[in-house]
Amino acid sequence: MNLPSLRETLDAHGLAAKKSFGQHFLLDLNVTRKIVRLAGPFEGRAVIEVGPGPGGLTRALLESDAGRVVLVEKDARFIPLLSELDDASGRLAIVEGDALRVREADLIDGPAHVVSNLPYNVGTALLLKWLTGPWTPVAMTLMFQKEVAERITAGPGDDAYGRLAVISQALCEARIVMHLPAAAFTPPPKVASAVVHLTPLAGRPAPDRIARLERVTAAAFGQRRKMLRSSLKSLGGGALCEAAGIEADARAETIDIAGFLRLADALK
Ligand code: SAM
Repeated sequence: MNLPSLRETLDAHGLAAKKSFGQHFLLDLNVTRKIVRLAGPFEGRAVIEVGPGPGGLTRALLESDAGRVVLVEKDARFIPLLSELDDASGRLAIVEGDALRVREADLIDGPAHVVSNLPYNVGTALLLKWLTGPWTPVAMTLMFQKEVAERITAGPGDDAYGRLAVISQALCEARIVMHLPAAAFTPPPKVASAVVHLTPLAGRPAPDRIARLERVTAAAFGQRRKMLRSSLKSLGGGALCEAAGIEADARAETIDIAGFLRLADALK
């Protein structure tokens, strides 16, 4: 399809970014194509894109080997513009709605990837939704503000290591695959961004184990400067640490994912 530039498309539809929807657009197709290359290959599987906005990532996804591209956009103003990307191949589906509320299993049959330049205000909530299920993607390639990307991928001892890192990495292999300066977006946000690629681990913990992991990490990082015997007091303190083979005078920030999983198991 011969399409006008993204900027011309926005102008033709009289559209400008709205702060309330967390809108910071990627208008350079070289950048969106690179993100899609990092996310793939899709090998004919479906891709769900949350928040397509003017459709820069959508265009790159439609050029890829995705079998289906399902868009979920909350801002109704963008639906007519996105409809123009339909190349009559039957691969594009557009859903107007809130990604926090949609049931992904109703949108696609079979496995799917998620690729998104996420709205910052709901990015972490969406990640936790896809991490903990009930529906989980084959892989996720997601843009976050850099600080959040670091909180997802940090390891023990890093300043950014906390609940989000433990939950994310107990369930997925997670790494930053691209950094983007604020100037890459229109309008530019106040902070830099980064793309995180997450692939679910084989043998992921069962939901009840994740729920216990959430309780342990909430208590441990709720008082991250305290020793675990004290921060985990309400969950068993020193006895819980002993059952998990963890030093009770250690602090949460030094415990690796396997250690937190042992603490979650000792909670049983
Ligand atoms: N993907 C586009 C791009 O890269 O240029 C736009 C990204 S912009 C950061 C975030 C997009 O998510 C906007 O189009 C916004 O309207 C949409 N959005 C915000 N909250 C949403 C939600 N809860 N569900 C679905 N889309 C949402």
